[in-house]
Amino acid sequence: MHIDIFTLFPAMFPGYLNESILKRAQEMGKLSVAVHNIRDYAQGKHRVTDEPPFGGGGGMVLKPEPIFAAVESLLINHQSDKYEDLRLMIKSPLILMSPQGRPFTQAIAQELAQQERLALLCGRYEGVDERVRQHLVTDEISIGDYVLTGGELAAMVVVDAVARLLPGALGAEGAADCDSHATGLLEGPHYTKPAVFREWAVPDVLRSGHAANIARWRREQALRRTWQRRPDLLLTAVLTETDKAYLAVLAEEEAGVLVEKGEDKS
Ligand code: SAM
Repeated sequence: MHIDIFTLFPAMFPGYLNESILKRAQEMGKLSVAVHNIRDYAQGKHRVTDEPPFGGGGGMVLKPEPIFAAVESLLINHQSDKYEDLRLMIKSPLILMSPQGRPFTQAIAQELAQQERLALLCGRYEGVDERVRQHLVTDEISIGDYVLTGGELAAMVVVDAVARLLPGALGAEGAADCDSHATGLLEGPHYTKPAVFREWAVPDVLRSGHAANIARWRREQALRRTWQRRPDLLLTAVLTETDKAYLAVLAEEEAGVLVEKGEDKS
């Protein structure tokens, strides 16, 4: 997969991109990332990329011309005097990072990981001129209901979540399959050496070597954790009859605890 990132601050990216799994994915040829400075496409001596908003108010707004110029030169092989819909000619999805975009989820990361090429546009200041949103970008993604100073961190979040889903990027094939949100559930707990740490022992089943029992224990732990922390996920998760039976046990356990505490309101 190739990812183009458009930003005013390209120096923010190399540190994160050139470590650990993202570095390895690039070395293995599974991922390439090109970071483009929007300022390089601005005109005039001062290469101005932002101006105050029409109508007044604080802050600055990213001008449309440098962003259109950057995207047109890299992602659109087309010269025309007519103002055609550039979004139909663009070589890859162009995603504006925005607190107003669709909320980023593992399902969206999986959807994006199917693409051969992606482009991410990082806003700054008050954001981008509305004409960029209306006539250039093909999608908008938010990484959460809060406001960052710029889209760079958000773009790195998307690159990271997508890159680890590329086949072979994590080393062990299928390593991402059981992660939280991959199956609609949260993942259960992990343990490593030592087997006993400060008198806290690793559950016996994990040291039993019995693959089927370990798989069942892990599934039950995932169900238990999701039940406790994110019961909303259980409404859409794909559950087997065995899963449902285990959830019924958890419900009974919880009802028992509430009765013991005298909190049963039924
Ligand atoms: N004035 C904008 C608004 O209220 O929607 C917020 C602009 S924000 C300070 C500057 C840039 O940071 C945005 O254009 C966007 O690219 C990025 N950004 C901020 N919060 C984000 C979020 N939650 N997800 C993705 N990008 C975000």
